[in-house]
Amino acid sequence: MPSKTQSPVQYRKKIAVFPGSFDPITTGHADIVKRALPLFDEVIIAIGINSQKQALFSLEQRIKWIELVFKGEKKVKVESYEGLTVNFCEKKKANYLLRGIRSSADFEYEKTIAHLNHDMLPQLETILILAQPELSSISSTIVREIIRGKGKVGKFVPKEIAKDFK
Ligand code: ADP
Repeated sequence: MPSKTQSPVQYRKKIAVFPGSFDPITTGHADIVKRALPLFDEVIIAIGINSQKQALFSLEQRIKWIELVFKGEKKVKVESYEGLTVNFCEKKKANYLLRGIRSSADFEYEKTIAHLNHDMLPQLETILILAQPELSSISSTIVREIIRGKGKVGKFVPKEIAKDFK
């Protein structure tokens, strides 16, 4: 029996998974995580390993950069996973899946994935956060293109890691 001072409602830790390739992490990704932090007890930035997609940066490098950006932020964890995102969420007991929306194309895509994920794992709630207008044209794809073309990407990656791209 719970004592009179104890709440009868059990508090469930709010854990969100933010999946992506983060090849590399951009100011757009970092902004979504920062804005999500007040909503959750823990945000797991999860790098999905996709054998079909060759990344430009190694997994170790991508993890290192994310850890640098969120150094000192106790709520943020960085992990990698293979296979279905819902399986990873279930394993981590995460009840929220976080994604960022830059455009209506992003929204249509995320809507389909969210419905599929909900079918597979009904307790998983997808939370979509809108990109800030000034960050909505930033993507890892564009950043990689600029790097390949030997351009400057300092403005598009978080300041904590910008020196690595000089
Ligand atoms: P994916 O390959 O799964 O799209 P990304 O690493 O490109 O992985 O992106 C991870 C998440 O971050 C996605 O939800 C994506 O929409 C979001 N995102 C990417 N860039 C931005 C941005 N500039 N602003 C807000 N959200 C973004």
